[in-house]
Amino acid sequence: MKINVLDSSIYNLISAGEVVERPASVVKELVENSIDAGAKSVKIEVFSGGKSKIRVTDDGAGIAKDDLLTAFLPHATSKIHKKDDLFSIQTLGFRGEALPSIASVSQMTIISKPKDAINGYSISIKDGKSTIPTEAAAKTGTTVLVDRLFYNAPARKKFLKSPRTEMGLISDLLAKYIVAYPQVAFRLENGKHTIFNSSGRGNRQNALFEAYGKNIAEQMIPFDLGFLSPPSLNRNNRAQYHFFINGRPVHSRELSLVVDEAYFSFMPAHRYPIVFLFLDL
Ligand code: ADP
Ligand code: MG
Repeated sequence: MKINVLDSSIYNLISAGEVVERPASVVKELVENSIDAGAKSVKIEVFSGGKSKIRVTDDGAGIAKDDLLTAFLPHATSKIHKKDDLFSIQTLGFRGEALPSIASVSQMTIISKPKDAINGYSISIKDGKSTIPTEAAAKTGTTVLVDRLFYNAPARKKFLKSPRTEMGLISDLLAKYIVAYPQVAFRLENGKHTIFNSSGRGNRQNALFEAYGKNIAEQMIPFDLGFLSPPSLNRNNRAQYHFFINGRPVHSRELSLVVDEAYFSFMPAHRYPIVFLFLDL
């Protein structure tokens, strides 16, 4: 059979299958890009659980006009330049896949202005085609609008849950980032309702309060690697096991087992603690 190099529109769709599972994965990628851009403040606006619209606005470094189109090419990243960079990654992203992937399964608009630029510029991408950058009023930073997620991927769209459930996954995700990045002020809005509005003052204990409320924050026990719940504060699954390695959220079977074991003799059967563990390696 003839061997064929996939063109970028097909390649992006395949990688979207891995990167973009649901609205919460879009929010994760966009928020991580904002954090990587050094944002001090990130606003996330969600409509219908992200099924109709997600807009993320930050006050980070911005994207220069000439880079706006490049950012949507597969493997386009400003975070890695040479082989050695792979061994000292300081950012959450580095593979250059999120923007082209998300854009391939939605209608996306980006407005951005770097600090030293006079004007902002905006581009829109639809059906794999991008408009040329046009001047747009903007403050320093970046706004990414993701409209009609999975409009061209009906199988994916069908698999999404109710707006309420999708919103729940987004707010769980945000709560986690609020605690992990207390120096960033996050605001999460569900339509007209504000779900989170963290101060970004940099105090992790305070961030825990802002994300999880007074009741949980007061019971959690701080220690040098994070926070642990007393055995009396527990859940029926491990969804509140939060592990971060060098600031990056990770899933780790090994770490989960360590927590299970440490709590084993204190915990009722099939109950699990709330744990935040921040490891620097
Ligand atoms: P990655 O994060 O792996 O580099 P992405 O596809 O997520 O890849 O983003 C591509 C590039 O677009 C980034 O490397 C960055 O230069 C730029 N970019 C994306 N989002 C933002 C943002 N919110 N602020 C500034 N630059 C951004
Ligand atoms: Mg990224």
